[in-house]
Parts: sequence; C-alpha cells; structure tokens
Amino acid sequence: MSDVIVEVSGLHKAFGPLEVLKGIDLQVERGQVVCIIGPSGSGKSTLLRCVNLLEEPQKGKIVVNGNEITDEDVDIDGARRKIGMVFQGFNLFAHLTVLDNLTVAQRKVLKRGKEEAQRIARENLEKVGLSEKETSLPGQLSGGQQQRVAIARALSMNPDVMLFDEPTSALDPELVGDVLAVMRQLAEEGMTMLVVTHEMQFAREVADSVLFMDGGVVVEQGPPSQVIGDPQHDRTKSFLNRVL
Ligand code: ADP
Ligand code: MG
Repeated sequence: MSDVIVEVSGLHKAFGPLEVLKGIDLQVERGQVVCIIGPSGSGKSTLLRCVNLLEEPQKGKIVVNGNEITDEDVDIDGARRKIGMVFQGFNLFAHLTVLDNLTVAQRKVLKRGKEEAQRIARENLEKVGLSEKETSLPGQLSGGQQQRVAIARALSMNPDVMLFDEPTSALDPELVGDVLAVMRQLAEEGMTMLVVTHEMQFAREVADSVLFMDGGVVVEQGPPSQVIGDPQHDRTKSFLNRVL
C-alpha cells in the first residue's frame, strides 16, 4: 500500500467565472503534517473542501488512502467518513451534551453500539483534556473547549486523515494555545494532518512540509525552515512580512 494518504493532482475549481484553484498538486504522506498558508481568498478553504467532497472540482484528481474520491462512482459517504474535518466555527450540536456530540455519528454512520461509542468518545475526550465536561452542553464551554470537543468528535470516527481549516482563528488569543497543544500532540502520535493556519510558530515547529498558496496556485512548498525561514518568492516574503 502506498504511504501517500492524500494525493491531489491538477486540481481546478471555479465558481462560475471565478477560477479559485488553478491546478493544485499536493501530497500528504502517512503520519505527516502539511500546513497550508496564504492570504485570505487564495483558495485554501476551497482546497480542503474539495478534499472532503464538500465541493466538486472541475478538473483534477484526489486520492485519499488509495480511494479516488474524484471518481464519479465513488461512495461519497464511505469516503467522507474516513476524513476528519475541523472548521473555524465548531459546528457542534448545541442541544446535545458533549458526550452525545461525540457518539451520534459513530452510532448513525459507523453503526457502533452505545457502549462502544461512549468508550471511544471518552478516550478521545481524555485525549483533548475534557473528560470532566462530558455532560456539559456546548454553550457552557469556552470557544477553545468547544474546538477541542470538535477535534475529539472527528477523532472518534477513526479518520485516515484530519483536515483543519483555521481551527484557532475564531478563538480569543488566550484560548489558542490549548487547541494548538492538542494538535501538536496528535501530530506526535502520528496522525496524518492537513492544516490551514495562520499560526506560523505552529507551522514552523510541527509541519513536515509547508505550502504557500496565493491566487489559486501553490507558489512555494518545502520544509518550514525553507518556506517560512528562507522564502524564495516575493509573494511568500511579503505575506510573511504581514503575518510574522
Ligand atoms: P481562503 O480560504 O484562502 O481565504 P477560499 O477558498 O475561502 O479562500 O475562497 C477563495 C475564493 O473563492 C474567494 O474569492 C471566495 O470569495 C470564493 N468562493 C469561495 N467559496 C465560494 C462559493 N461557494 N461561491 C462563490 N465563490 C466562492
Ligand atoms: Mg479560508
């Protein structure tokens, strides 16, 4: 089996006349963390949404763990359940307890029994440091805690890869660190991760590879020491000057 978990090649996506992705190539190997950086509007979210089948590309190929998800005959639900996604907003079910937020998809989609689903949910709540919150409602938690619940919920589906779209952008600054610490721990445990982020420190320390996107193309990619530490392209330099 290939050790490439996510392979994107020649990906094009347009919304009407607006070309948003203009031929993206990207690979994420098993256990790797790839961070995507770039200015607002450069197509980062659209790229992640294509990988998670929330958007249908016009052209190009996406293979996730050997399964070509751009094949028109693909089992979309089957493919999607192998891909964990964490958004900027937390998208928790407001009327369900934390524990129920973590078990509902396990039971409905994976057909796990209640006890097994709860056991797996509790393992993942412990991992994100929120064991004592299982009976809370999302509204009773801080934004950072809600985001950690969202991460635990995605992990409870045993995904092949986790996609993160600016998971800390909506958080108060003092809450960002706890979420990044959970992500860092996941990376250390060998989770395969594709992360859109503005947290350059995180990208520098955790990413195996950093990809700078601008205007729907990958301008530059390589190890963080290169792309963030010693960028070659003017567009990368000016972006980093603005965010660092
Ligand atoms: P980023 O995440 O890098 O900020 P996005 O992928 O969200 O960029 O957006 C890239 C471009 O695509 C933007 O110009 C945005 O307005 C446009 N766009 C994104 N989603 C849609 C949509 N569903 N319909 C029309 N335009 C969209
Ligand atoms: Mg975005």
